[in-house]
Amino acid sequence: MTLALGCIADDYTGASDLANTLSKAGLRTVQTIGVPAEDLALPEVDAVVVSLKSRSIPAPQAVAASREADAWLRARGAAHVMFKVCSTFDSTDAGNIGPVTDALREDAGEAIALVTPAFPETARTVYQGNLFVGAVPLNESPLKDHPLNPMRDSSLVRVLARQSRAPVGLVDLATVARGVEAVRERLRALAGEGHGAAIADAVFDGDLAVLGAAALDARVSTGASGLGLGLARALIAAGRVAGTAAGTGAGAALGGPAACLAGSCSQATLAQVAAAEAVMPVHRLDPGRLLAGEDEAGAALAWAMERIGDGPVLIASSQDPGAVAALQARHGRDAAGHAIEAAMATIAAGLVERGVRRLVVAGGETSGAVVDRLRLPAFLLGPEIAAGVPVLRTTDGGMVLALKSGNFGGREFFADALALMP
Ligand code: ADP
Repeated sequence: MTLALGCIADDYTGASDLANTLSKAGLRTVQTIGVPAEDLALPEVDAVVVSLKSRSIPAPQAVAASREADAWLRARGAAHVMFKVCSTFDSTDAGNIGPVTDALREDAGEAIALVTPAFPETARTVYQGNLFVGAVPLNESPLKDHPLNPMRDSSLVRVLARQSRAPVGLVDLATVARGVEAVRERLRALAGEGHGAAIADAVFDGDLAVLGAAALDARVSTGASGLGLGLARALIAAGRVAGTAAGTGAGAALGGPAACLAGSCSQATLAQVAAAEAVMPVHRLDPGRLLAGEDEAGAALAWAMERIGDGPVLIASSQDPGAVAALQARHGRDAAGHAIEAAMATIAAGLVERGVRRLVVAGGETSGAVVDRLRLPAFLLGPEIAAGVPVLRTTDGGMVLALKSGNFGGREFFADALALMP
């Protein structure tokens, strides 16, 4: 297998989002969970997205895991590797976007890396190095209050410089508007001045194709799904991939029982769980009892097995912000979150043991816990359920899943997902 594109994503649902973007653009794409084993059997594909959980771990660990993923991708022929980060540039002054970009750039022997989280289609634009989320600068968006990575500076040139070894420059919109050659020239000039990275502006969809083509000249870049789209377009335009592969993971119907799990407490997921009550049985975990050591997972499994022969079921821990805050105040945020994630993973494993092959999971961390417990090594991309949420089919064809981060999808998400997972 010779990969046209390798990607390393710093979280699982972001990886699915990127893999979905590449697949829709026409690249045959596989998403792996973690760095694959050397002997993992993969079909012939254009791109592999290695999913890591490295967004909020100590920088040295994120660097080590990313380097390992990079080595795996390069060994399979990837001439270009993109480090996929969140489109809101979630990071702190300690990392991990800067340290990982520095390490991958050095390993690739490049002087400078192009960096942009812009994705105009999803209202993430960068102008003069400042990231806008919709109409507001990053530091005025809800990201300013993010529990792990509060983003209080919209200037990504400054944000990235604080976590990078070398100075960070800017490829401004006027340069991008002049086209690929102008961007290349600017990158060369910045590298000559000792910059190790450059934030690239992008405001319009067409800017991504310019940046993708310029990035593809180098062996490494950093960005969100928007840059992935630009790279995919550049690869197709250059004739390096056929670009006719959308939906290769659609596959045959699996049938059998189906289940949904919701561990996200986002507004969108709360509304989706409420909407699901009209179309399937819903069991609500009691997080208080769970934290008190009761076998809530066992009870949920027993509940599910009584009903699952008649149609899909949903098991949810999701609660409104008041209830979540009360539980966190009693048990601590991490302890509460991890205990519920572990229970969800146990329920998922129990369901699969009992024959479930179609599984929908709401919540980024929850999805990570489930996929890790099920030890699923890699997925092919199926049809898109909602923006950024594809159907995933295991490469052995044995299971289909939908993994969504909390805020994704419309009100009928669970029913929409199951309808595309026959
Ligand atoms: P999202 O994608 O919406 O952020 P995640 O699954 O990533 O969803 O995160 C939700 C976190 O909240 C998980 O750690 C989950 O275990 C935890 N959680 C789920 N239900 C509750 C609850 N009722 N109270 C407190 N925490 C909860």
